[in-house]
Amino acid sequence: MKLILLGAPGAGKGTQAEIICEKLNIPTISTGAILRQAMKDGTEMGLKAKSFIEAGALVPDEVIIGIVKERLAADDCKNGFILDGVPRTIPQAEAIDAMGIEIDMALDIEVPDEMIIERVSGRRVCSCGASYHVKFKPSAVEGVCDKCGQPLTIRKDDEPQTVLDRLTTYHEQTEPLKDFYRAKGLLVEVEGTGTVAETTEKVLKALGV
Ligand code: AMP
Repeated sequence: MKLILLGAPGAGKGTQAEIICEKLNIPTISTGAILRQAMKDGTEMGLKAKSFIEAGALVPDEVIIGIVKERLAADDCKNGFILDGVPRTIPQAEAIDAMGIEIDMALDIEVPDEMIIERVSGRRVCSCGASYHVKFKPSAVEGVCDKCGQPLTIRKDDEPQTVLDRLTTYHEQTEPLKDFYRAKGLLVEVEGTGTVAETTEKVLKALGV
């Protein structure tokens, strides 16, 4: 299964990816997580990405395409993968096509903007990649990751003004990907407004697993 997850920031892509990757035993490739790790490590790529991320803008396509090319060449991607948060622009989608990768499905999780703002304000993340919500998906112990025990943090780009900028970026640059994949017959849309479990049920049904 070569799956692309589409949807606004905070739609639940990462949460559903965690569940699907465990069920199908395939890796999730999250460019956002890779970039955050690079920023934490202070690498050249991290330094380059920082200003874009903190402004709620997109990191240049050539940086993203480089990351994806390198990551998808790894052994663990041989039996499939989930792309979470990439592609985010038409040139990124075209680059994935040009790599000769045949995507099976582009699954779009639809959530209206008002709900996104509410969700993102309660989001807490761990550097291991796990993601929580204070109300909708709390960790067992407040502020501590269930998976690895590290402290949870608030993403800097989840601040209210940055979220509005990220939503504008999403509508302008990422949403056109729906038509891109619809034209290829690969787009499947699911409503992501319910609980995590309700959305998971819809997602798994769409995947036929
Ligand atoms: P995410 O964790 O997917 O919400 O990504 C966090 C931020 O990283 C985004 O707001 C962008 O600034 C940057 N980013 C992640 N993935 C991409 C991508 N595919 N293209 C451009 N920028 C990206």
